[in-house]
Amino acid sequence: MKTYNVGIIGATGMVGQRFALLLSDHPWFKITALAASGRSAGKTYLEAVKPRWAMKDPIPDNLKDLKVFDATADIDKICSLVDFVFCAVDMKKPDILALEEAYAKHECPVVSNNSANRFTPDVPMVIPELNPEHIDIIPAQRKRLGTKRGFIAVKSNCSLQSYVPALFPLDSKFGVDKCLVCTYQAISGAGKTFERWPEILDNVIPYIGGEEEKSEREPLKIWGKIEGDHIALADEPKFTAQCLRVPVSDGHMAAVFVSFKSKPSKEQILEVWKNFSGVPQELNLPHAPKQFLNYFEQDDMPQTKLNRNLEGGMAVSIGRLREDSQYDYKFVCLSHNTLRGAAGGGVLLAELLCAKGYMD
Ligand code: NAP
Repeated sequence: MKTYNVGIIGATGMVGQRFALLLSDHPWFKITALAASGRSAGKTYLEAVKPRWAMKDPIPDNLKDLKVFDATADIDKICSLVDFVFCAVDMKKPDILALEEAYAKHECPVVSNNSANRFTPDVPMVIPELNPEHIDIIPAQRKRLGTKRGFIAVKSNCSLQSYVPALFPLDSKFGVDKCLVCTYQAISGAGKTFERWPEILDNVIPYIGGEEEKSEREPLKIWGKIEGDHIALADEPKFTAQCLRVPVSDGHMAAVFVSFKSKPSKEQILEVWKNFSGVPQELNLPHAPKQFLNYFEQDDMPQTKLNRNLEGGMAVSIGRLREDSQYDYKFVCLSHNTLRGAAGGGVLLAELLCAKGYMD
């Protein structure tokens, strides 16, 4: 595989820091530009990020001296240095729409972690193991944008990256009729650490703005189908969600209740999870977990602290599958919110796009 020069837009933030770690020794990608707001622009990456570095691993040595660009004012310069960019910024939705489209129109593909473009009809929202075929909408998007190379591709919200992978292969065999999910979400999902958010210690906050809507609606795009120049949303499965913020650093847990059109046995469900793999595994992409869905037999597993880093934080952990008195089954599942749920999911999507020729 050839080497691609890449940029990180929002490089100083929580997700941007994860990108910096994942990309600093990536076999295909070389970081050649880092960008953030005007507040960070002009500083070295070390100066800009050191006061709020939130990762356990240190700031990569090869990035410390790179100058941080202004994501908007320096767009021409950034696009001249990279083959494509990863984007994770905390800005208002209209500003993110404008920023991402500006990069695409500069013929610079954008792999985005932001929610702004998730429901743009010709922007693919991809979990690479589940709906990789959605990237085939990119030619239609390029036609609308008037670009030859430039496009936007996004990943879905972190809250749903455990239960949607668990349910997707079950749906294609047994038909998911309805699903109720409660999520228990880490504070890094709000860009926070315990030092910066002491109020969360010994506490649970029963509200995460916009999260329940995303958790219920985004799966319908993942389950959608390309129809001409857009991705048509699926009508089902129907989801209802409650999302809570809990005092853990990383890792979103979900408690799932599900009913099927044709109720499988417990053994059939376990068999589907064990045997499920997708295009990233077939192509042996660098960030593809060997085993995407992992079932734990022990009653007290998976646990956030013990299992969130499974396969570099790219695998999903599942446990406690049992029959329910109101739904057919209930179970719990877990994924790392800033790895599989954010930067890692973005990197895997970019690897898929490279392997399929969309970054050439
Ligand atoms: P964050 O820690 O608050 O970082 C925000 C980043 O955006 C910083 O690099 C900041 O740069 C930059 N920024 C702010 N205003 C900007 C501007 N006007 N122009 C250019 N850059 C600007 O946020 P985060 O948690 O990393 O989240 C970033 C995005 O990823 C959000 O859209 C979020 O919804 C999404 N996301 C987050 C997670 C997660 O688990 N954290 C998961 C999935 C998706 P400065 O340092 O210069 O201010």
